[in-house]
Amino acid sequence: MPVDTRTKILATIGPSSDTKEQIAELMDAGADAFRINFSHGTHAEHREHIKIIRKLEKEKNRLVSIVADLQGPKLRVGDFAQDKVLLKEGQKFVLDLNPEKGDATRVCLPHKEIFAAVKAGEILLVNDGYIALKVVKCSKDKIETKVKTGGYISSHKGVNLPNTKLNISAITDKDKKDLKFALENDVDWVGLSFVQKLSDVKELKKLVDGKAKIISKLEKPSAIDDLDNIVKESDAIMVARGDLGVECPLQVVPVLQKRIVKTCRMQSKPVIVATQMLESMIVNPTPTRAEVSDVATAVYDGADTVMLSAETAAGKYPSAAVKMMHKIISQVEDDPLFFEMMNSARSKPFMAKEADAITFAASEIALALKNVSAIVCYSSSGSTTFLTASERPALPIVALSRDIKVARQMGIVWGVKPYVNKTSFQKFDNVEDCAIEYAKAAGVAKSGNHIIITAGFPLNVKGRTNMLHTVYIP
Ligand code: PGA
Ligand code: MN
Repeated sequence: MPVDTRTKILATIGPSSDTKEQIAELMDAGADAFRINFSHGTHAEHREHIKIIRKLEKEKNRLVSIVADLQGPKLRVGDFAQDKVLLKEGQKFVLDLNPEKGDATRVCLPHKEIFAAVKAGEILLVNDGYIALKVVKCSKDKIETKVKTGGYISSHKGVNLPNTKLNISAITDKDKKDLKFALENDVDWVGLSFVQKLSDVKELKKLVDGKAKIISKLEKPSAIDDLDNIVKESDAIMVARGDLGVECPLQVVPVLQKRIVKTCRMQSKPVIVATQMLESMIVNPTPTRAEVSDVATAVYDGADTVMLSAETAAGKYPSAAVKMMHKIISQVEDDPLFFEMMNSARSKPFMAKEADAITFAASEIALALKNVSAIVCYSSSGSTTFLTASERPALPIVALSRDIKVARQMGIVWGVKPYVNKTSFQKFDNVEDCAIEYAKAAGVAKSGNHIIITAGFPLNVKGRTNMLHTVYIP
């Protein structure tokens, strides 16, 4: 197992990473969290993957976060008979409602709302925008197109309609079924694709009903228009650059990435930077310089987590991709400039609640007191841990929670080493001893160090961080 990095790695499970051996390899390479992508695969397959992850979690005695990524109102083509077919520029290609498997002349597009909305002259983009189809004619069950930009197309590839207004609900029937399955199978995070407005997040929150935390995937320009409120309503955010780069001009994506990451840090919400991070490693054993630089930039920007998609799900070198990502993160985090940048980009705390003030003060003490080696955070709901992490302290954060789900959720939160601690404290001395014990076990404190403890009294009441304490380890 490599040395823990502060910035976490989220790896997507897929055909290249669905056996116990392969998933174990990803964990050993440094993956902290796994994404179960409900845009692909069956419930039986997902159940099996979750089972394997939980088994490995026990065997390796390391908590792992599982993110259930709901497809949302993502438009996708249906199945093809072959692995992939080539669409050539200038040829005709038909999208219809016929569920039969597709070929080089046609494929099913199982969203009848599109047929009602699309007009001749509009562009349909397929497979992250690689293929462009220009609509020639559209009826209620058939869209005839001409291939403007050709390329390979295969089953379930995404379709974007940047110029078409569609009346599609945020959480589809499929999402509702997938969500029910995901919550029954004990996932830690639920991600919703194609969030367009605040009410989408509220709707998901209602359905999840506190059984997991939620990630809003930002990939629609309309979500960016209400960024502050959407971040506020969500537990975490994903910069979903794949679809974002299709829906907006590509050159806007890095600008939005920086704006979204900054907004999340201001609001102490974990943020994931996703898609094409080491894209060429789907087929090559080493990435391009530009990809290495992109991962490093996301880490310097202050992302909590960087994600691998097809690199681990369907690529030829899944564990090499995680190893590479881990090496890039380690290198950046070893750079003295990194913490300098984290500090200068640090936002003023809101100071609205005790918890904000306490976590802010904790990171100040970390700078002022000699030999402080860790912050130990008793946090039942996890929100104080989020606050502490968003300060990006140079010290490791040990997070103790009674709830294994909360502890697991830290798999996508910057700098946090999570543990489950179910002790019921009678005396304050025990709170100190317990914090020391966990900090030592995490390998972040030894005799002669101070540690900082943040907690809420009474302990284990949610949302009450009101205590800051330093303790010397004799
Ligand atoms: P996806 O989401 O991989 O589920 O499409 C991420 C993205 O769009 O970047
Ligand atoms: Mn997407």
